[in-house]
Amino acid sequence: MEDCIFCKIVNKQIPSNIIYEDDKSLAFNDINPQAPVHILIIPKKHIRTLLESDDTDKELLGHLTQVARDIANEKGIGTKGFRLVLNSGLEAGQSVWHIHLHLLGGRKMSWPPG
Ligand code: 5GP
Ligand code: ZN
Repeated sequence: MEDCIFCKIVNKQIPSNIIYEDDKSLAFNDINPQAPVHILIIPKKHIRTLLESDDTDKELLGHLTQVARDIANEKGIGTKGFRLVLNSGLEAGQSVWHIHLHLLGGRKMSWPPG
């Protein structure tokens, strides 16, 4: 998708600090980290929001959570605990319109989120 910043990251038109990549997904450090570990895990396929995903995306979306699990373990926060966040839509605070999972960890998290 032409004007999508995350598609540009996928296509290496914009640099990012890549943590993991495979044929379906990409993970990179968030530019504005909210925790010692703050990594974004995205599908390479452009899907605007979770709301706009469909049943054919089931396996892909499941894959993202498995990638998050593996990265959490690699970053040493697997057993300590980590948080996955998927903001969908304006009221949730979504600001980039390409589905992404936030993997957050390395500090004690509070609840409820703001
Ligand atoms: P959202 O608010 O949509 O859930 O999260 C978007 C995230 O993308 C934010 O945490 C923001 O810091 C991050 N972000 C926005 N633009 C860029 C960028 O160009 N590079 C990287 N690495 N992260 C970005
Ligand atoms: Zn995109």
